[in-house]
Amino acid sequence: MSRQSLLEEISRGPSLSGAACAGMAPLFDARGEGESRARYLNRFRKAASICKTCPVLANCREAVLSSKPSRRTGIWAGLRFGKGS
Ligand code: SF4
Repeated sequence: MSRQSLLEEISRGPSLSGAACAGMAPLFDARGEGESRARYLNRFRKAASICKTCPVLANCREAVLSSKPSRRTGIWAGLRFGKGS
């Protein structure tokens, strides 16, 4: 399961037009193979700080929390999902 496939699913829900993370996918990915927990948490803090300023934060949170839990991965709406989170 990738963040991209989850994005395709939740894009069918509330609008994410104007998302602050557009073009910043790697920062919002799930913890990578071999990525240390410290490095991942540092990346998460940066991503979450962007989410705090995002104009579609509420829509994003609604969409991701409406998706199947097994499909959730990566960083969405200032929250961590998936392997290693
Ligand atoms: S809240 Fe975060 S993950 Fe969701 S669209 Fe905005 S920047 Fe992206």
